[in-house]
Amino acid sequence: MAEMDSAEVAARLEAERQRLEGLRAGYEEEGLQSQSEQDDLSELSAADQHQADVGTETFNRERYLSILEQVEAELGDVEHALERLANGTYGTCEACGKPIDEERLEAQPAARFCMADQAAAEREAHGS
Ligand SMILES: [Zn+2]
Repeated sequence: MAEMDSAEVAARLEAERQRLEGLRAGYEEEGLQSQSEQDDLSELSAADQHQADVGTETFNRERYLSILEQVEAELGDVEHALERLANGTYGTCEACGKPIDEERLEAQPAARFCMADQAAAEREAHGS
């Protein structure tokens, strides 16, 4: 990462972290709200007209949990990138050790792999 300005990269990662933490805080608040709504509903009689609402709440909660998981994973990547920036390995692929395209890092500052290895990792994750 010879030509890369590490202070600028750090600032970009910090901004990304703050954005993700803001997102997470928002989702957590929303999640707590839907949780307490669910509690309210369960205190009521199981009248038929409530069934649809309960189903929707459950669906939203699942969706919210998967989004939250995604945000947590991205936050982890950002923290990881900050660590690598600190120990001087930022900007190289964790699989093959080659430098990652600067364009790719600009679009995705927390990228851990070069394009080829990212594609390979994704293929593996999808289990085909
Ligand atoms: Zn690679």
